[in-house]
Amino acid sequence: MRVRILASGLALLLAACGRGPAPAAPTPAAVAEPDTVRRDIRWAARPVPVPPSFQRAVDEGTRTLDGRPGPAYWQQRVVYRIDAELDPGTGRLQAEERVTYHNRSPDTLHVVVFNLYQNLFRAGAPRNDPVPVTDGLVLERFAIAGAEADPIDIDAEAPPDRATYHLDGTLLVAHLPRPLAPGDSVEFQVAWHFTVPPADAPRTGRSDHAVYQVAQWYPQIAVYDDLRGWNADPYLGTGEFYLEYGDFDVAITVPEGWLVAATGTLENPDEVLTDMARDRLGLALRSDSVVQVVSVDDRDAGNATQRVPGGQLTWRFQARDVRDFAFAASDRYVWDATRAVIADGAGGRRDTVAVHAFYRPSAIAWRNAARFTRHALTYMAGIGHPYIYPQITATEGPVFGMEYPMIVFVADIENQGLLYTVIAHEVAHMWYPMMVGSDEKRHAWQDEGPASYLENLALADIARDGDVWGDELWNYMQVAGTELEKPMMREADLYGPGPAYGVASYSKPALLLRALGHIIGPDTLHMALREYSRRWLLKHPAPLDFFNTVEDVAGRDLDWFWHPWWYETAVLDQAIADVAITPGAAGETVVITVEDRGDAPMPVLLVVTLESGEARRVTVPVDVWLEGARRHRVELEVPDRVTRVEIDPEDVLLDVDRTNDVWVRGAQQR
Ligand SMILES: [Zn+2]
Repeated sequence: MRVRILASGLALLLAACGRGPAPAAPTPAAVAEPDTVRRDIRWAARPVPVPPSFQRAVDEGTRTLDGRPGPAYWQQRVVYRIDAELDPGTGRLQAEERVTYHNRSPDTLHVVVFNLYQNLFRAGAPRNDPVPVTDGLVLERFAIAGAEADPIDIDAEAPPDRATYHLDGTLLVAHLPRPLAPGDSVEFQVAWHFTVPPADAPRTGRSDHAVYQVAQWYPQIAVYDDLRGWNADPYLGTGEFYLEYGDFDVAITVPEGWLVAATGTLENPDEVLTDMARDRLGLALRSDSVVQVVSVDDRDAGNATQRVPGGQLTWRFQARDVRDFAFAASDRYVWDATRAVIADGAGGRRDTVAVHAFYRPSAIAWRNAARFTRHALTYMAGIGHPYIYPQITATEGPVFGMEYPMIVFVADIENQGLLYTVIAHEVAHMWYPMMVGSDEKRHAWQDEGPASYLENLALADIARDGDVWGDELWNYMQVAGTELEKPMMREADLYGPGPAYGVASYSKPALLLRALGHIIGPDTLHMALREYSRRWLLKHPAPLDFFNTVEDVAGRDLDWFWHPWWYETAVLDQAIADVAITPGAAGETVVITVEDRGDAPMPVLLVVTLESGEARRVTVPVDVWLEGARRHRVELEVPDRVTRVEIDPEDVLLDVDRTNDVWVRGAQQR
């Protein structure tokens, strides 16, 4: 999802200009003289803790300490067949599913936990933020292995050998009539209905009765993993999702004249689309230009969509290896399509991905949405893991910005730059968490961080402007080091009101990834992201799997980086304490004293500018601070007069006080 963390100005972001040519390549620090001043608390000295659940997983061989899945890694699998009918006039969605649950764990299971997310909208349901109230998900039938299951009270003991279930807010716990042994599977049959909530609902909703963006809509089996067993957490509205991978066959029935866009591939185009629309679609997928598959004039049934007796059309979609399924439907949409030709990651073969955009013509900026979506997908596949799915779809509607496999929900945003930014953010989520299935509820930074990082890189690429980080910096700096800031290693639902969740999940981890690129090199960082994606493709990486993979690829210990920045709210404050200059025979000798006044260590990126305009880069390695120093002297001989000394002029290392980072010759010093 993309949240507005604080009232920040994107216009400012887009208007910001570049900072001029990049300075010269770094040269090593000439002198390293640690001072004797030592700090009382060194966050940096603390290793990243290995939680007991993770240590047990290592001992059992499902995880490792080098960031790879262990040889005994296992994961459950789900297969859904869903038939749904949407009545746009009332907003009612009626559906039934058969879901097969494959127990690949070494454990015998007595219960299976389902998420019923729509119960967030019930009157009186526990939740973090106000939502429009509906009746929630109304269960009509629940059967386990062919046996009708009876509801029992949450406090009642489940009778043995009988199929029962109990409801607990957004959770349903199915008590199996027979234990599910390792290697076995069990089928559930469920029938339900609910009313799609109106606009202002989180992540799903409808604009009146004209546009539907439907998600969190089917009874969904929770994750059972090697770290915690059942992840039976209520849906409270802030924390997002942790989802099992599997296959989906979904049939969605809507009135004729309605278009449906969804996760997966449309399996019956000949039943729902006319020859004309199918021809245009075929053309779009062979073309680099954007083709209008359905225009304003084509929207009546019989033009682009088939006209059928009874007036109801069923759209069938199939998706393999996905962690969720969502769809959008409208009779107001036009439909643009084109193709993306993207890198396959091996440097040779290229894959063609279908790109779709569905929007109301009144959403003017959306005329560029197919192009924007293609740019984001192509750019991100170019630096990351190949995109593994056959299509990507952007749909316009009531949801500001939300991601699902192969489909994103984005609002009618007028500003082109902001529309691109939100689309790019949601497209970045195709990697994290769609292809790399981390636990968003416990570790929101693990998907929102890289998504925000990639979003900014893609924006810089399309806008041809490297300075796109203003908003993220502003967000972080508003709370950095104050009691409003909370650590990134915290469950999403436990941040409380205010900007803490947004900063810790989006801006700060995105900025830290950018900073990490300056510490280990951007190529190494991107190599690490690719390797992390490769190792954990369609799997469930924990934070340690990410940290350890980055360290493995970078070939160095980075606990000094993870601990203070991820586990604490320590801040960086480097300062130029003194600059002493001695004239020499051919230029000057400059001795710069740098102080580390914060509790989060970073290398020092010094730029010394000479009268000739030449800029000398000096990097002081972080090790000087890790050894306990608070002050460090750098001595440099230069062939010219020194006019300016600055710490981190590109502002990449999150220094909270920029006023003590610059020394200008002749100016009064602090
Ligand atoms: Zn997001």
